[in-house]
Amino acid sequence: MWIVPEREIGSLLTRQAAFDAVEQVFAAMAQGAARNFPVIREALGHEDALYGFKGGFDAAGGALGLKAGGYWPHNHARRGLINHQSTVFLFDPDSGRVRAMVGGNLLTALRTAAASAVSIRHLARTDARTLGIVGAGHQSAFQLRAALEQRPFDRVIGWNRDAGKLDRLAAIAAEAGLPFEAVSIEGMRDADVIITITSCFAPVLLSDHVAPGTHLACMGTDTIGKQEVGADLLATARVFTDEVAQSVTLGEAQHAVAAGTLSAEAITPLGAVINGSTPGRTGKDEVTLFDGTGVGLQDLAVAATLVEVAIEQGLAIEVDF
Ligand code: NAD
Repeated sequence: MWIVPEREIGSLLTRQAAFDAVEQVFAAMAQGAARNFPVIREALGHEDALYGFKGGFDAAGGALGLKAGGYWPHNHARRGLINHQSTVFLFDPDSGRVRAMVGGNLLTALRTAAASAVSIRHLARTDARTLGIVGAGHQSAFQLRAALEQRPFDRVIGWNRDAGKLDRLAAIAAEAGLPFEAVSIEGMRDADVIITITSCFAPVLLSDHVAPGTHLACMGTDTIGKQEVGADLLATARVFTDEVAQSVTLGEAQHAVAAGTLSAEAITPLGAVINGSTPGRTGKDEVTLFDGTGVGLQDLAVAATLVEVAIEQGLAIEVDF
């Protein structure tokens, strides 16, 4: 089997490779050629940790496996480690033998950013010029970099509960030669594309804060109970997702579905737009909303690409197992 350590991921995985792998696997999911297995997520009752598995099989791409990991809230303070810890395991779909073990921490950030970037590529207006980011935590930096590659944005605006943390986004905008402005949440009405990437349990972005024609990529809600945007936005927007089953149970759509203002049938898998079997945006004033819940197949698709590159570059460690 091959091992690709976490320390090598930064030099091996480009944003473009992550984008291509995620776009392809979303398309395969919509065609029924790839499926995610039910997610397991458990509170361990130890170190206040949440631990779980996200797995799947992509028959088209040949990726079988799972990502194991979770959230250890005391890691940073007690051990100097990051709180999110995960590892991807890939198996040979023909024999069941383990093929690779891949560091999953940076990979998760890159595959999550790739998902919202794919949604922007396929759903945002082509004349989108102002990019808005709600949230300035760890993931937000990856989100901003990937989004900037999808349209010729000429301005970035940001909102965070603690405005002092917006420096992280301002620095990335500056790297790209773009002006950055910290705004009130109402100021998000100026944005053509808005990414929400917070761990909120109550909506912060409401209908009044979103202009007609905006594309929203809601990326923070990946757990039952979390919520970033007003449920009424989902009732009036055209809603797209990575996987409908996750969107209605643990994604941003869970609240509108529970309130009876959105049905699972009204949610379109983004892969169907990528495949061309369902139209994406149908008008310049339409609000499109991508509910990015994060599926195991994203991790497997990106990890499978990464293993090939690591072997080619001599950076994968071979173990007789
Ligand atoms: P982080 O802890 O580094 O940052 C959290 C962000 O949420 C900060 O900007 C913080 O200000 C904001 N926030 C928290 N509570 C808030 C509140 N009540 N009101 C307003 N803002 C609030 O976390 P991160 O690593 O950047 O992750 C952000 C979210 O993305 C988490 O919910 C995480 O679970 C989720 N996530 C989703 C995927 C996916 O595939 N969809 C993948 C990775 C992470």
